[in-house]
Formats: sequence, C-alpha cells, structure tokens
Amino acid sequence: MSHQEDPAANTASTSPRDTRMDRRSFIGATSAVLATTAFALSQARAQEIEKIAAAEQGKSASDAGPENVAIRDANPNTFLPPATDHGEANTFWSTFSTAHRRVQEGGWSRQVTVTDFPVSKDIAGVNMRLTAGGVRELHWHEAAEWSIMLSGNARLTAIDNEGRPYVKDVAKDDLWFFPAGVPHSIQGLGPEGCEFLLVFDDGKFSEGDTTLVSDWLRHTPREVLAKNWGVPEDSLAGVYKVPQEGHYIFQVPLPGTLKQDQAVVSGSKALSDVAFDFPLPAMAPTYQTRSGEVRVIDSRNFPVSTAIAAAHVIIKPGGLRELHWHQNASEWQYYLQGKGRMTVFFNGGKARTADFNAGDVGYVPRTFGHYVENTGDTDLIYLEMFKAKEYQDLSASDWLAHTPPELVMAHLNISRETLQKIPNGKVPIVPA
Ligand code: MN
Ligand code: MN
Repeated sequence: MSHQEDPAANTASTSPRDTRMDRRSFIGATSAVLATTAFALSQARAQEIEKIAAAEQGKSASDAGPENVAIRDANPNTFLPPATDHGEANTFWSTFSTAHRRVQEGGWSRQVTVTDFPVSKDIAGVNMRLTAGGVRELHWHEAAEWSIMLSGNARLTAIDNEGRPYVKDVAKDDLWFFPAGVPHSIQGLGPEGCEFLLVFDDGKFSEGDTTLVSDWLRHTPREVLAKNWGVPEDSLAGVYKVPQEGHYIFQVPLPGTLKQDQAVVSGSKALSDVAFDFPLPAMAPTYQTRSGEVRVIDSRNFPVSTAIAAAHVIIKPGGLRELHWHQNASEWQYYLQGKGRMTVFFNGGKARTADFNAGDVGYVPRTFGHYVENTGDTDLIYLEMFKAKEYQDLSASDWLAHTPPELVMAHLNISRETLQKIPNGKVPIVPA
C-alpha cells in the first residue's frame, strides 16, 4: 500500500507533498473517517452475529440429507452453534462411549489417547472395570497414574520408592496416584467389583504398553529366572504357560481381609507411610457458592501427586463455571454426571462450543479462555485434570474488576454501571 492510499500512514507523515490540506485539518478529517469506519465496522459485526442467528432459525439451516440422529441430538451446540462461534477450531470433544472395549475374563478397559484425540498431547485417559476378584495385574508404566473410583470397591497394592509395601482398599470417589515406575495392582472387591477412571500425564500413554510382571518374567530365560531366585528350573513351568503378552486383566478369587493382607506383606519391613490414596468424600470444598462447589486436589494437599493436579467441580442447574483460564497447563476433562456445554476460545476470532454428557472427555489448550455451563436439570459434575504440580486458574471477572475502569469500558463498550456489577473477585461458580 502506498502512502497516498493509506490515511493512517499519512497522518504520521511530515511530508510536505500534500499541499491541498494543512496537517491539522487533515488529521481531524482522517480521525472522523476512522471513527465513522470503526462505527460502521462494529455495526456490521453486530449484524454478522444477528444474521447467523437468523439463518439458523430458517431454511438456511435445513438438513435434508442423511443424519446420525443419535449423535446429532446429543450435540445441539454443534448442530446449531451459538452465533458467536466462528472459525476452524481443533476438536476438543471426545468420549469413552465410542472407544473400543478390551474385554477379558475379570473385566475390561477402554482408552482415549492422542491417537484418537489429537488435541490432547499432555494427558491420556483409561476407563476400567474389574469384577469381584478381577485383577488388573501387577505392573508399572512410564507415565504417572491418577485415578478416581467411579463405582464399587477395590484393593490396591504397591511398593514405595524405598521398597516398603502398601495395601489399601478404596471406595467410590476415592482417589489414588502412582508415580512413574512404582509397581501396583488393582483388584475388584465384593459384591460387584468396581469401575474407575485412570488419568496419565502423557497423551501417548497406552494400556497396551505397560510393564506387566507376567509378560516380563515369561520372556526371561528359564535358567536366568531360576538363578535369579535360587530355585530349580522345573519349579517355574507355570511362568511359561502365561499368555504371550501377559495376563493384563484376569479373574481370581476374592482376597482376604485388608488387615490380613497388610499383615502378610509387612514382614520384616514396616508398611509404607506414603499416602497413595486420597479420600475425596471427606474433603471440604475449596470454593463454594450457591451454584456449586469446587475441590482442588494437587501436591499441596495430596503430596504424592506431584505430576497431576485436579479440580472436582459440581455445578447446580442454572449454574456456570465462570469465564477463566489456566496459566500453567492444558485442561483434560472427564464428565461424571449431568449435561453441560463449553465454549473454548481459540484466539484470532476462533471459538467453538461443544456439549458434554456423562462419560465424555473435553480438552482446553493451555491459557485458552473457556466456561462450562450446566445445561441440564440435575447437578453437572466433572473433573478438570492438569499435567502440573499445582492447580492454577485466573478469572476474567476478577481480572477486569481489578483493572482501571476507563480502560475496561473503552475495550468493551460497556457502561460504568455494567462494569460495577461484574463480580469483584474470583467466583468459580456463578451466580454466587
Ligand atoms: Mn497402572
Ligand atoms: Mn478450566
């Protein structure tokens, strides 16, 4: 663009070339033109949103072709997006309900990893069920494991980094955390076994690529294993009858009491003093308003959990998890109950809204603005999970209420009266 075509460039120029207009009147005229243009542009943009909203109500949005009605009807904010949605945003919605279930005698597992959910590079999720007695076999992995019990009861075993034993029973809504490389097992207890969610601090994590004790030892030469343990080779025949890739999940009888198991493992060593589990049901809310509750669990109150931070969020009907963002990590969500929607703002004019139901997974890239709204008539309950030592968030309301008002009003074209109504502080769930 030449100087002559660009009025903004001309106003900054001291060139005497333009003699038809003195500099002061030229600046005045240009400012008026710019103000008129800005007003016209803002009007046009307001109309843009109204036009999209109107189009969505009429023939422009009709849909005569083939349709997967069940999927469509579960995603109303995708089929008819808010008129404020715009541009190409990465898919940040997934679900366990379309993930392959690996079913074996003793239970099943299914997973959402970066393979099927490319936006989630930091975190992978696994949903697992074990029957009463069913075992997720003794194993460890490169990723750290955070978990919440969704239903039923289980017995955990592990050793800590000093080799001291840990055996504990967990129930619904209890959490646990096993650091990378710490070996552990999970066994479903009576009467109905259990189901739980596992969250790993690596999007590439796969349940098919963990170190299983039966897989490893079955692939160790028999004479080496005999020498390692100081036992005759023929006493090890059973090890080599294990399936090629180990047991993974298998059915065994129910264990004895917790006291019996704890007594038998302690032997010459004391039990571990590391709390690998966390009784979430006993925790008071970190934030509470009349519209909901937030419980923040991270290394500050669950010291073993140094790699994963969490928030357990309850939003009552009509409530909104306020506009906010997280400075230190991307957010991986798991929806436990209810119905909600979330808009993620992807910067540069891009925004997208998605609907969430129990069993669905959401993702918000690090620092991207978002809200979660309860769109159902029961409590919406979900988890915010972060690959981080500590939970962090900032509130849009808190920020704007603590910024010079003239500056905020000029940005948003709002009155002082409106600005003064914005909550003056962090209110995680509104209305307060
Ligand atoms: Mn594990
Ligand atoms: Mn969030």
